[in-house]
Amino acid sequence: MSNKNVEHADIVIIGAGFSGMYAIHRLRNYKVVCLESGAGVGGTWYWNRYPGARVDIQSVEYSYGFDEKLQQEWHWPEYFSAQPDLERYANHVADRFDLREHIRFSNPVKSMQFDEVENRWHVYTDNGDHLLCRYVIAATGSLTAPNMPPWPGRDRFKGDIYHTARWPAQGVDFAGKRVGFIGTGSTGIQAMPIIAEQAQELVVFQRTPAFCMPSGNRPLDQAYEQDWKANYEDRRRQMLQTYGASIIEYPTATAAECSPEQQAEILEQAWNSKSSFQLLFAFRDVMTNAAANELVCEFVRDKIRSIVKNPETATSLCPTTYPIGGKRLCIGNGYYDMYNRDNVTLVDVKESPIAEFTESGLRTLSADYDLDVIITATGFDAVTGAMSRIDIQGSNKSTLTDKWAEGPTTYLGAMVSGFPNMFMIHGPSTPAAQAQMITTGEWQVNWTADIIDRMEHEGLVHIDATEQAEQQWAEEVDMVSEQSLHKFADSWYNGKNIEGKKGGFMIYVGGFPRFAELCDSAVANGYEGFIRK
Ligand code: NAP
Repeated sequence: MSNKNVEHADIVIIGAGFSGMYAIHRLRNYKVVCLESGAGVGGTWYWNRYPGARVDIQSVEYSYGFDEKLQQEWHWPEYFSAQPDLERYANHVADRFDLREHIRFSNPVKSMQFDEVENRWHVYTDNGDHLLCRYVIAATGSLTAPNMPPWPGRDRFKGDIYHTARWPAQGVDFAGKRVGFIGTGSTGIQAMPIIAEQAQELVVFQRTPAFCMPSGNRPLDQAYEQDWKANYEDRRRQMLQTYGASIIEYPTATAAECSPEQQAEILEQAWNSKSSFQLLFAFRDVMTNAAANELVCEFVRDKIRSIVKNPETATSLCPTTYPIGGKRLCIGNGYYDMYNRDNVTLVDVKESPIAEFTESGLRTLSADYDLDVIITATGFDAVTGAMSRIDIQGSNKSTLTDKWAEGPTTYLGAMVSGFPNMFMIHGPSTPAAQAQMITTGEWQVNWTADIIDRMEHEGLVHIDATEQAEQQWAEEVDMVSEQSLHKFADSWYNGKNIEGKKGGFMIYVGGFPRFAELCDSAVANGYEGFIRK
């Protein structure tokens, strides 16, 4: 390996999404270089610009808390911001805090090798950059690598194919078009009602029906905004003390402790609460007790049957094979009503899967569909996808691909034993999308930066996790997921959305406060589980 064009840096940050951007700011007293595959900042909110893309956590929460002036001055027009507003915010933050000078855009990381003698990482990019740095912080996101099922015939199709996570910036004109839409997760549910209004025809290819709760989006009330701004410090602290780092009504009663009348009233209130995910918190045991969960499932099925006029379509739209919340609850606007339109049809591809693209559309095992445009909202190779696409070689020439062959292992979701000086934000076995990701990302960046500052202060050059600590963390992750009903759904949480993907549950469902407490106590207990030298 030639050293001719090597550039030196203290820290390489991978990804200029919200966590990566904050990491640049927090660590700017070091020589920091951020490598970003997109042409702009914002990560998820840069790539996912499909019609209807919108966050499902209220924006007064889903925003940075590190700078008081920023949170006082920024105004969100709506409760749940749309992608253009989130991208505008990301750009504002990048400009306001002079982050761009540290970011190299359109410059994906290709490979990384750890030099055990120098205790440094060699980082190589697709553009030919070669950086030598002491630390790598992978802020690569949980939902970064789009999943495209390998249906043959893609080149044969005469129309256009789009993936929602790679949506063209100039948009797509659907007027007069027959549109085929594959995927009925959070993305599909947001995009389809808008596309149905524009297209001549929309054919929805559904493998598994989703539970969807109405979005309570509305213009942000001025008094509400002022109340948040007057109390931001307290609210941010409170958020971190809740399961999902978000202030919603957390119930005290289990379903069985409520009478049938109370149950019905609570569920109706949750449905109309205009607060995402409130249905999952209708009772204390929705995610831990199958009977309580089924009560909520049946409530939503009743809603579907009451909204969708065609009884056969309504039945197909009712999820029956997994608990509500097992896959992430979808939050939508007019999704079920959309099926009452004359130009929308539902095709069940569970029994008769999609087989291939044809010249004129799609072929399932039982029928052909003529289409002008095909949209895939088929999700992501989640949690591990972005890291797995980089060729990463740690100590003793071990590769991350081999290490994670049977599923990802980490210590506190932050480090992988055998890959020293490499930290991850929202890595495997962190709460990730089970908690509000901007605030918890900031928390993880601060935790990581404190560790790095301490290393520098003490003149240390090498930090790794022990295999034993990794094993213990896996046991903790398994223990909390065993207590929840998440395991009964095939989803991106456990990699079962991708055929052949190995590994267990990749998200920490013990709640953010417990996660943070375990991270903090590891450090406070003399860096328990770490090797530092
Ligand atoms: P997803 O939840 O994984 O949904 C992908 C959809 O594609 C599913 O309906 C899946 O069916 C279907 N699919 C995949 N492979 C298929 C195949 N071979 N044949 C037929 N159908 C296939 O992905 P997503 O909708 O992009 O959402 C991912 C996550 O992003 C969400 O859970 C959420 O965390 C986040 N997100 C958030 C928001 C928001 O904030 N509002 C919006 C969008 C996304 P199966 O269910 O059968 O696998």
